[in-house]
Amino acid sequence: MLLPKKCSIKENGVDCISPPSDFVSIENIQAEEYMIGVVCKVHRDLIGEQIKSMQKEGGAPKGIIRFRNVTVVSTDCLQGLSEDCNTKPARKEIKSKRI
Ligand SMILES: [Zn+2]
Repeated sequence: MLLPKKCSIKENGVDCISPPSDFVSIENIQAEEYMIGVVCKVHRDLIGEQIKSMQKEGGAPKGIIRFRNVTVVSTDCLQGLSEDCNTKPARKEIKSKRI
């Protein structure tokens, strides 16, 4: 899985360029998880509010909003991709910068 390099939030029409700190997902009553995006520390509350209003309007699945630390996920390989497990995220970053 490719980790987005920046936060998913747009503030006043401008993309936030901060590196993401958390994955944001919605867990419904059947314990199914829907990935919403990634968010930086500053925008965690904001994305929470946005998702809540989307849920009210039916634009997002109903359920609990979950935040999961990006570093924890990549270290523990919770995504289950062995390729990602062997590659350190920092190394990937350097590689893509060269290109
Ligand atoms: Zn942000």
